[in-house]
Amino acid sequence: MTERMREPSGQTVGAGALLTILRHGQARTRAELVQLTGLARSTVSQRLDALLDQRWIVPAEEAISSGGRPAIAFAFNRNARLVLAADLGATHARLAVTDLASTVLVERAFDLAIDRGPEETLGWLVATFREMLAEIGHSVAEVCGVGLGLPGPVEHASGRPVNPPIMPGWDAFPVPDWLGARLGAPVLVDNDVNIMALGEHWAVRPETDHLIFVKVGTGIGCGIITERHLHRGAQGAAGDIGHIRVTSADDVVCRCGNVGCLEAVAGGAAMAVRLRQAGETAENSRDVVRLVRAGNTQAVQLIRQAGREIGDVLASIVNFFNPGVIVIGGDVAEAGEHILAGVREVIYSRSLPLATQHLGIRASVLGDRAGVVGAAVMVIEHVLAPEAVDLSVAG
Ligand SMILES: [Zn+2]
Repeated sequence: MTERMREPSGQTVGAGALLTILRHGQARTRAELVQLTGLARSTVSQRLDALLDQRWIVPAEEAISSGGRPAIAFAFNRNARLVLAADLGATHARLAVTDLASTVLVERAFDLAIDRGPEETLGWLVATFREMLAEIGHSVAEVCGVGLGLPGPVEHASGRPVNPPIMPGWDAFPVPDWLGARLGAPVLVDNDVNIMALGEHWAVRPETDHLIFVKVGTGIGCGIITERHLHRGAQGAAGDIGHIRVTSADDVVCRCGNVGCLEAVAGGAAMAVRLRQAGETAENSRDVVRLVRAGNTQAVQLIRQAGREIGDVLASIVNFFNPGVIVIGGDVAEAGEHILAGVREVIYSRSLPLATQHLGIRASVLGDRAGVVGAAVMVIEHVLAPEAVDLSVAG
């Protein structure tokens, strides 16, 4: 690593930038940091002291010898702070406490009805987080941030839900203020699909530049990673593919009021309705998967066809966006190859050869943990951003 980091118009590389370098393993010692940044040795020392003081880094066990005197190595301290992460769905919730590398320290899953409204739901969240922290011998004082995924549209900048169809009472509720006042840490909120995309990208495919994460659950939505960053769009509504019109379904009315939406033919709720009409017992998307796994012919045919409908919409998106990987997650994705086969069939026959040449279409590896991992990642990226670290060491 011979090239030095450029410093824009005399601005110095701060403590936060040094932390990023150490965190990514680009340098480990004082001398390597001097070499990489072009900063004076005394400046590097001063900034390392500040980072040590705030426990963002620790002296590493290893000492690196390069002929002369052994140099002390420094390492990012993943245990410096704790992160609270929650993925709230329509009917269930998953909560986790993680370290700064998004490693889950304690995790719990619950049945939870989000339609009980924000104060009851978030009050329960605060109490449960406190219990989980106590369980591992920690307290809220060590928490640097809270990440929360909600099953509806969220204006990310304010963290407020915007007309969420399945969350009565939540519209414009100030979630970050309410939770922040009770947990004493910054709160970041996004929709569930975006955090799942973040989690899967960070933990499983960090080397992929352009990724689409499709959640097929009760409804259908997708999260978009471009240049390794989440793309939310102008208002945070990017990726809402569930309400794209599919030609085969002109007579099907969607819950949004339009006809022919993808979600109204290929979503888990829609499939459950079709199976009930065929005389099967299916209340929700999980029941659909249960029937598929049991080898029910109707259910298998239905989910293959759903895969093709989803593939039809994704084929256009592949031409438009040219992702490297499409990940299929959510409850219905638990049906595995049955849904992937339908998706692949249509995408490979309908998208341009150049766009599909190296395209991978895979099931989510994290499964129902993608949301909590992504919620933690959202907080970690915020807290460890160089400018945020600079502020923390400035006192
Ligand atoms: Zn719709």
